[in-house]
Amino acid sequence: MTHGPGISGLIMEEPLLWEKGKQGRTAFSMPDQDVPEATVEIDKNLLGDGPDFPDLSEVDVVRHYTRLSGWNFGIDTGMYPLGSCTMKYNPKINEKMAATPGIATSHPLLADELSQGTLQIMFELQTFLASLTGMDAVSLQPAAGAQGEMAGMLMFAAWFRKKGEKRTKILIPDTAHGTNPASAALCGFKPVLLQSGSDGTLDAKSVAELMDEETVGIMLTNPNTLGLFEQSIREITAIVHERGGLVYGDGANMNAVMGIVDFKRCGIDIMHLNLHKTFSTPHGGGGPGAGPICVVDELADFLPIPRVIKSGDKYHLQYDCPDSIGRLHAFFGNYGVLVKAYSYILSMGAENLQKASQLAVLNANYIRESLRDVLHLAYDKPCMHECVFSDKKQQEYKITTLDMAKRLIDHGYHPPTIYFPLVVPGAIMIEPTETENKDDLDQFIDVFKDIIQEARENGELLRQAPTRTKLRRLDETQAARKPCLTG
Ligand SMILES: *Cc1c(COP(=O)(O)O)cnc(C)c1O
Repeated sequence: MTHGPGISGLIMEEPLLWEKGKQGRTAFSMPDQDVPEATVEIDKNLLGDGPDFPDLSEVDVVRHYTRLSGWNFGIDTGMYPLGSCTMKYNPKINEKMAATPGIATSHPLLADELSQGTLQIMFELQTFLASLTGMDAVSLQPAAGAQGEMAGMLMFAAWFRKKGEKRTKILIPDTAHGTNPASAALCGFKPVLLQSGSDGTLDAKSVAELMDEETVGIMLTNPNTLGLFEQSIREITAIVHERGGLVYGDGANMNAVMGIVDFKRCGIDIMHLNLHKTFSTPHGGGGPGAGPICVVDELADFLPIPRVIKSGDKYHLQYDCPDSIGRLHAFFGNYGVLVKAYSYILSMGAENLQKASQLAVLNANYIRESLRDVLHLAYDKPCMHECVFSDKKQQEYKITTLDMAKRLIDHGYHPPTIYFPLVVPGAIMIEPTETENKDDLDQFIDVFKDIIQEARENGELLRQAPTRTKLRRLDETQAARKPCLTG
């Protein structure tokens, strides 16, 4: 095999800084002292033995971190087809905008009249997100998708408390992301499993069977985590509303439908967006994110505080909202992430955001069609932004999804999402995103086909993969049971 971005690479060894340091090494030279020496009394009990920092020269430090960075994989290195995560390329101009000195250094304790620019960015971003989703009001407070879900669940609870109703259960589909039942349970709701139909989508009949007076409503994801559009969404939300319930929409898969689906018309009451997935914040390393929630008018009073409002031509933070679920954290969330989203939306424009979603869907369907002869397709119908295969066809060679995913690493690709969603045994979920061009998609497809050929001819090699990396296949059970946290 010759194609694929990864062939072997120059991988440098690198010890821990503590092993590398030598006493007396330093990264700077102080001039000779030209003032009298002073002694300061320091309470030894307060300091203990002092921090154990290694002594290093500047070049030691620079090489250390540069070498470590080479062990990492990111979207700037290559294709990262991790399904449900939208690992698309995020234009550098948006980073630059977030680092603009007036924005990056503005202090969150400044009075409103001295923060008009930063408040205007927040206010306008809220307006953009409302118009992209079709919803009425937005809070930028939540710092992640999961925190948006939790805010939504607290709002569900506040809504029913105000109405004087006691409801304790919530419907959650079997394809849901794990954070959905976790967020609901954190807010005191008991998740009730809603099975998806044989075509991978929800069936209005099963919602009708489970939706009762003790149930607050439903949390659903559209497109769902199988990359399929929930066609019966309006029927489902109508049933939930008829029985006094509310509908939470997990908008993590927004990259498939930016400005295309009107979620309010679909019957969604509250939804979150993941700015770090859809709106230009890199998130491979688990850095800061933002999970704004978008709601219908009827629920706006319950949004977290502070809310950014505009009166006349001035922007203000509003704290006086008696029905609000309160604050989610200090200040205004991860502000830099909001600026990147704002800059991304402005630089794309409404039309190009729609086009980006259409290309994301086209790319996923191109991969689905190109690999369908060699990999088993979990659901044989057009997909949205991601497609789900399984290892069913490779079972006769005793090759698993894990083997194929590990072999992709040898060829310079981050593996796709595997073994999720749980409803597909041996799932391989590929989300190419709109930022891969056709040449890159073809290269990925060729590499995947070669790996499948290898499964037939040289299974042993696949079972040992990755073979070209610094570390070989890890004992994952051992790693989970006995984690080594010192390096
Ligand atoms: C990523 C994701 C979440 C959680 O979002 P975080 O920002 O990681 O907390 C929730 N639901 C789905 C479908 C997701 O893909």
